[in-house]
Amino acid sequence: MCHFWAAKRDFTSCVNYPVSTFAQTYSLLLEIEAEVTRTKSALSRNFKQLLLVYGNETDLGAAESSALEAEFDFVIQIPDSGFFGDRFLESPDLPHLPELLRKAATSEGFRELVGFPSPKVAVLGFDLIASAFWFLTRYEEYVNSTPDQHGRFLCEHSLAPPELYDQPVVNRWFENLYSLILEGLKIPKPAFTRRQTVALTHDVDLMRKYRGLRGARRFMSDTLTMRSSAEEVRHASMVLAGLRRDPYDSFDQLFQLKEKLGAQSTFFFMAGGKTGHDCDYSLADSDVRQLMSRVRSNRDEIALHPSYETLTSPALIRSEAETLRKEMVKPLRGSRQHYLRFAVPETWRALVDAGIRYDSSLGFADRAGFRCGWSGCFHPFDLEKREVLPIIEIPLVVMDVSLAVYEKVPAEQSLERLAHLLDASHTEGGAYVLLWHNIMNDRATFPGYWDTLEYFIFAAAGSARFITLNNLCDEFEHDAGN
Ligand SMILES: [Zn+2]
Repeated sequence: MCHFWAAKRDFTSCVNYPVSTFAQTYSLLLEIEAEVTRTKSALSRNFKQLLLVYGNETDLGAAESSALEAEFDFVIQIPDSGFFGDRFLESPDLPHLPELLRKAATSEGFRELVGFPSPKVAVLGFDLIASAFWFLTRYEEYVNSTPDQHGRFLCEHSLAPPELYDQPVVNRWFENLYSLILEGLKIPKPAFTRRQTVALTHDVDLMRKYRGLRGARRFMSDTLTMRSSAEEVRHASMVLAGLRRDPYDSFDQLFQLKEKLGAQSTFFFMAGGKTGHDCDYSLADSDVRQLMSRVRSNRDEIALHPSYETLTSPALIRSEAETLRKEMVKPLRGSRQHYLRFAVPETWRALVDAGIRYDSSLGFADRAGFRCGWSGCFHPFDLEKREVLPIIEIPLVVMDVSLAVYEKVPAEQSLERLAHLLDASHTEGGAYVLLWHNIMNDRATFPGYWDTLEYFIFAAAGSARFITLNNLCDEFEHDAGN
């Protein structure tokens, strides 16, 4: 049984949020206490009693702390950095220097930061609550938005250095805190045996490279950047003459691989969008209908890919969700923003309003990694209303285009990044969410990427299991119910 008491009274819901996220991750019974002192008889002795205190030494008099020691089996004090104070929602700053946060993410570094004033009391060396809050809520994006040309907050805009996003730091701090708790309560550490979890996902943006007016327009702009436009013209005419397959028409290859591995995945379809950045199909098109029925018969998941303008007109999400629902056999559960255009907290609110169960947009477009410091499912937090949102966020870890276009990693070097992030995503409830576009089969534009992804997925199957995002939510909510 974990009791939590915060000395500060003004930011109760904010302060409770990371603690309840932690408790949910490790299935701890959590009690938020209004008063720190409880009589021993009030505590159930069926469980070991842990007290987490958020505050500074002055908040806990010496006499009081020894009384607490008598009541609880272990007390952990988390220092208050002052993050939740006068400058809340004004300053975008991290609660601590990045070096300290990175150190606390390793098990040895975390332990070096812990002090033990007495055998039953531990004092953490950093404000874990504010630091976890900063990442999970994407606090800085709300405070300090400096968008790119698509209105997106990029990794390069972040006050945290890019390396801090190479691992899910919040999960790492929680792992270390959990180990400390088990040690303090003298509970043996259970073996962590769950396999790595991979959620393969596919945003269906463009069905064809060469077709129609839109295709021609794209083709023209592509050719301007092509190394060999003559070769590209030859490709195009062969495709249009029916002598060659369009490079974006790669679903056969994808399904062949998935069938070999028994890997289910999640497909995001667009159900609207009028800008030049939107899709080249309608849900009524025969090739799209065929793809959707193939997805259904393979027991893969169909989810929504809200169009470009939903960033600035979030209400559109609702009508696009309704359009897609008409094509669905099962209920529509998931969503991911096209171009990863996302505004905190407005996009989450609009998704809740559209009856969506989970979102999987929160990866950076310009860099693969853990935008929320988190791997797997969690409930996001509304910074304006200061309340937990009734939706699940499953952060995107790697988008193929981030590596190929933004980071400009050559295909042969991307394998190392992909594998490193897969290892980093492995934690209690963690998930490696990979976005693999059908356009990666355009070998002229993305040389080597399709084969690399195929190889990587094949190799990962040795140590990982594959799951759809909605099934991952089922596991998350089932675990929480236990
Ligand atoms: Zn898209």
